Amino acid sequence: MENRKDICELNIEELRALIKEKGQPKFRADQLYGWLHKQKVKSFEEMKNIPAALKNLLSEEYYITVMEPEDILISRLDGTRKYVFALFDGNVIEAVLMKYKHGNSVCISSQVGCRMGCRFCASTLDGCVRNLTAAEMLSEVYRIESDLGERISNIVIMGSGEPLDNYDEVLRFLHMITDPDGLNISARNITLSTCGLVPEIRRLSKEELPITLALSLHAPNQAKREEIMPIAKKYELSEVLSACADYVRDTGRRISFEYSVVKGVNDSKEEAEELSRLLRDFKGVFHVNIIPVNPIEEREYESPDRDAVLSFKDILERNKINATIRREMGRDISSACGQLRRRHLKNANTITD
Ligand code: SAH
Repeated sequence: MENRKDICELNIEELRALIKEKGQPKFRADQLYGWLHKQKVKSFEEMKNIPAALKNLLSEEYYITVMEPEDILISRLDGTRKYVFALFDGNVIEAVLMKYKHGNSVCISSQVGCRMGCRFCASTLDGCVRNLTAAEMLSEVYRIESDLGERISNIVIMGSGEPLDNYDEVLRFLHMITDPDGLNISARNITLSTCGLVPEIRRLSKEELPITLALSLHAPNQAKREEIMPIAKKYELSEVLSACADYVRDTGRRISFEYSVVKGVNDSKEEAEELSRLLRDFKGVFHVNIIPVNPIEEREYESPDRDAVLSFKDILERNKINATIRREMGRDISSACGQLRRRHLKNANTITD
């Protein structure tokens, strides 16, 4: 087991304190930070203007997180790339690059697996193995940017894991990825998706980070939500919506409600009407993102027919609710959230079913 610590985990203030402790001039900390978070180097050797003595000193106590992709699938249709990364402890995670007209967007994982138990989601089938560190989340973005050779402008924290269940590391990641001395991605171009952890949504709204919140709603009422998402038993729908309204008020950001439609479960016309009524009283700017469920083999949930999805959207729009159907990216390399990782584990015989 590695005794050294991960130097990429340190923010600029912490790096300055370390450099001071080592009796080095302050500007060395800025140079180091640039190498790690702008140049995205993979080793101390690559840091050309850092004296060898300092590099040796640092490498006795620190290492640099480098996540190499184990597997990359590239869509011939739209250039979407799905990555499987191996972590230092042998765990694997997945991340996705999507190419849009407005720029390149990366969907990152925040945990190895997930413990929230949403019925239709593959990431949660084996529970949560561990949290990812901020450095590992940064590395997902850095490696994809290097592999693509183009700038990443948008980030969605919508891969495996519940980001607000890994609050401190996710927050450290957000501060570092938006740092002007790092990749400098605008907070306005970052979306964090949550299943609805109320205390953490409230905490996030006070952080002065203008990121967009996406709430996984998936049901028009408490009973249906409980059926699909175990976390709904802990936090009532009314409490979740009130935390979201306060988020909008405190941050001035709009919110996006995610609604994965499942055939025969939450896709009826009545449910579209009920959803419209539920959101009619919502105080704040929002839109609904309808996601036809991506079926996973471990569950019998199916995606509704195209017409049913369209008529669900029509009902929302008739009720003056702003709604979009999520465009499916990388259809030819499609695999639902968390499935790529599971397939990888199965091939390695780590799980059997
Ligand atoms: N834990 C967070 C973020 C990860 S999931 C959350 O719950 O929001 C990101 C989004 O993908 C969520 O809206 C989630 O409900 C949805 N999702 C997960 N599995 C899916 C599937 N098989 N089909 C469609 N959407 C899915």
